[in-house]
Amino acid sequence: MHCPICGGVDCYREISCYWRYAIELFPEFKKKRIPVARFICRRHRKTFSLLPIQLIPYFQYTVGAVVGTLFLGMGCWQMGQKGFHGASVEVDPESLVTPWLITCWLVAVVQGLRRGHAVLRQFYNLDGIHTSGAWEEAAAYFAAFGLRPKIDRVSLLMDLVYRYSRRTGQFLLGTPSQYRGSVRP
Ligand SMILES: [Zn+2]
Repeated sequence: MHCPICGGVDCYREISCYWRYAIELFPEFKKKRIPVARFICRRHRKTFSLLPIQLIPYFQYTVGAVVGTLFLGMGCWQMGQKGFHGASVEVDPESLVTPWLITCWLVAVVQGLRRGHAVLRQFYNLDGIHTSGAWEEAAAYFAAFGLRPKIDRVSLLMDLVYRYSRRTGQFLLGTPSQYRGSVRP
């Protein structure tokens, strides 16, 4: 692995991991703590971490939870409901998913897909996707990926996310700490 801070291969060493929450919503609400490996680059005295791929940087919820909730929201939107309330009442109340959180997820997912568009085009036909409303755009991407209700969307989606990361070495959704300005544990 190359150091994401300076690009070196022998500049870093592993330090103690940190723990973060990973929340699943489907098939049911599950909150667990998982270790995240951490390293320090001696040259720049900065830390970086290796986030497991099923997590979205800076999100407590897993990729499956986020996208599953967006599918619920999309269903409500297609039935003519406005806003994000519909999806937030359909997930487990213990999960504290709010309409505001779903709005953030939708924005982050659409941003990630736009950023990954050029790479994703190599795998999927994305000709029909135009920058329009966020729901429209997300729905068009999901349709292009073959993500439809009643199929195993999460495993299809994880294939996609793995594929993207293998090709680019980056996260499709979200931005890990090493690509942001400041250093965080
Ligand atoms: Zn380094």
